[in-house]
Amino acid sequence: MPRDPRYDILFEPVKIGPVVAKNRFFQVPHCNGMGHARPRAHAAMRGIKAEGGWAVVSTEEVEIHASSDISPHIEGRLWDDRDIGALQLVSDAVHAHGALAAIELAHNGMHAANLYSREVPIAPSPICLIGSYTPAQARGMTKADIRAYRRWHRDAALRSRRAGFDIVYVYAGHDLSLAMHFLQARHNRRSDEYGGSLVNRARLLRELIEETKDAIGGDCAVAVRFAVDELRGKDGIESRGEGREVIAMLAELPDLWDVNISDWQNDSATSRFAAEGYQEEFVRFVKGVTSKPVVGVGRFTSPDAMVSQIRRGVLDFVGAARPSIADPFLPNKIANGDIDDIRECIGCNICVTGDLTSTPIRCTQNPTMGEEWRKGWHPESIPPRSGDDSFLIVGAGPTGLECARLLGRRGFSVTLADAEPVLGGRVTRESRLPGLSAWARVRDYRMQQLNRLPNVEILRASRVTAAEILEFGARRVVLATGAHWRRDGIARANLRPIAGFERAGVFTPDDLMAGMRVPSPAVVFDDDHFYIGAVLAEKLRREDLEVTLVTPAERVSAWTVNTLEQHRIQKQLLELGVRIETNRNLVEFDGSLVHLECTYTGRASSLPAAAVVTVSSRQSDDSLGLELAAEPAALAAAGIASVDCIGDCLAPSTIAAAVYAGHRYAREFDWPQSDEVPFLREYPARAD
Ligand code: ADP
Ligand code: SF4
Repeated sequence: MPRDPRYDILFEPVKIGPVVAKNRFFQVPHCNGMGHARPRAHAAMRGIKAEGGWAVVSTEEVEIHASSDISPHIEGRLWDDRDIGALQLVSDAVHAHGALAAIELAHNGMHAANLYSREVPIAPSPICLIGSYTPAQARGMTKADIRAYRRWHRDAALRSRRAGFDIVYVYAGHDLSLAMHFLQARHNRRSDEYGGSLVNRARLLRELIEETKDAIGGDCAVAVRFAVDELRGKDGIESRGEGREVIAMLAELPDLWDVNISDWQNDSATSRFAAEGYQEEFVRFVKGVTSKPVVGVGRFTSPDAMVSQIRRGVLDFVGAARPSIADPFLPNKIANGDIDDIRECIGCNICVTGDLTSTPIRCTQNPTMGEEWRKGWHPESIPPRSGDDSFLIVGAGPTGLECARLLGRRGFSVTLADAEPVLGGRVTRESRLPGLSAWARVRDYRMQQLNRLPNVEILRASRVTAAEILEFGARRVVLATGAHWRRDGIARANLRPIAGFERAGVFTPDDLMAGMRVPSPAVVFDDDHFYIGAVLAEKLRREDLEVTLVTPAERVSAWTVNTLEQHRIQKQLLELGVRIETNRNLVEFDGSLVHLECTYTGRASSLPAAAVVTVSSRQSDDSLGLELAAEPAALAAAGIASVDCIGDCLAPSTIAAAVYAGHRYAREFDWPQSDEVPFLREYPARAD
């Protein structure tokens, strides 16, 4: 389809200092859990983005010195010449598709605990390490330290040029970098020319920009990533105050301004807490203060929203981390008029969990993310069919939908059946809960693709039995029948059923999602620790119930630390008036009281409760699989070559894991059985 001329503006070239970006799509730096430890995987992932049409593809933050060691997190590393080769893989992969490669040079100051290098952390002034409870402090930098740091930064810029990068970032963002720590009055208590007035606090950033330009500015563009607002009022940088003043002061020094809000959880807010374009109110002043091109982010997935940013003079480049992860081919799809094919980011931050757990990045919408090198997966292409197998997929949740989409793309004949009239399984159910409407994009993208595949037949409102599967005549059967929430409370804190949970008045998340009414006062017992417990507490509170959330963990939705949401979730519940009881296990429900035990002392307490919502663990809906496995002769007689349970029906997990399971089956069902590790690994170079 030809491109809609309304979007032409997105494909205009833009000059950035000595280089030219071919369009306005800019993949800003983002972490990926691969970095220096898995350089081939990292390079392949960035190369795919370039192939997908991004004009600029950036690395994550790249540590410039051993005193900026943020192990166990895995970022880029450019400590000395020996790191150049790994980064060159990235710039080569990006250049192979005609894009510009950008590198974000970072010194993390007192955010770097230096657990691996054992260097003493450094900061503008002596201070505890921030961002963790690591029992260590950073020392205040002397003038000699500042000179050394400037030298390291200059050396890193020179090495970046040798590694083939076109754009070199000076990083002053996210409360994560020395250049920003010097700017922040709360961190900088110096009395010399680097402290005190804003001019003094900005001196280091100015020097870094000037010195980077001096070192490599003839060949490479110098970008500054700067957080214009920290969302902490007078205590921090504010876009109406010092944020604006810094840009005004340094306006024409860099070749490009990459502006956002700080810290990381504000910059990468989830869809539960922030809508597309949420940074505009903070960054829109920037273009009025500088003539240099400006890039900003806001989880942009709609081409109309992108055009609006450019036309209204808010941004020159559409910056994206997550939208480029969910769909590395987003620019090309807009360029080719394939708007309906865009796989929109759902704003769940599963991608962030890779960085925070030091494992390769993954994505709910894009199961190939992080698998480009080690599995050879490509987000847009897949090998054609290997034979004439026909498939019956039972269950059209995220697992079944993705499996059907991909098997259909390969050209196989597929029937996808679901008991419900509306497909989508858990994503349809959960998307009706407060704040989770974007989850429906997992279903909608796949339905859109399936509707184009004549070789995929969809049977709605069709509950399938084992006898029907035997009769159906498909050669391969895929069971993606999902899971349901347990009613007995068994999960982590309770490995046996909770006393009284067989009573009326005990509800599961499935009951609430099915619309059952819950009496007040209600206790939500969350032993799941991801998002559902808090979302249900929010739902009930908004329905005006008296709600207490009880959890054996030390905080609400404990695992959402990894999706950068925990603070917001707990704050929201407190503000809504949900009572919170942490470090409490629920041991009994007697119909009017829940009985609790302190997880440390065992001390007993109780709470009035007309209802308990138990958010514990889930049980696979695997009965079809068990029935069929018990009848090998009948399977053989029916000509069925394989029956596989995949996704939540095999073992309940995240939506990302469900999509991955469906994708994996479609790519790998015809691989030979093997005990080999099913992906490539990278090994540290042998010592010379
Ligand atoms: P997953 O996350 O693994 O995709 P879901 O729970 O989201 O799992 O989806 C499972 C889907 O399977 C649901 O839409 C459900 O209606 C469907 N399902 C379960 N059992 C049957 C069955 N016997 N016949 C048809 N559909 C079924
Ligand atoms: Fe978007 Fe979620 Fe994918 Fe991250 S994991 S890119 S937030 S869909």
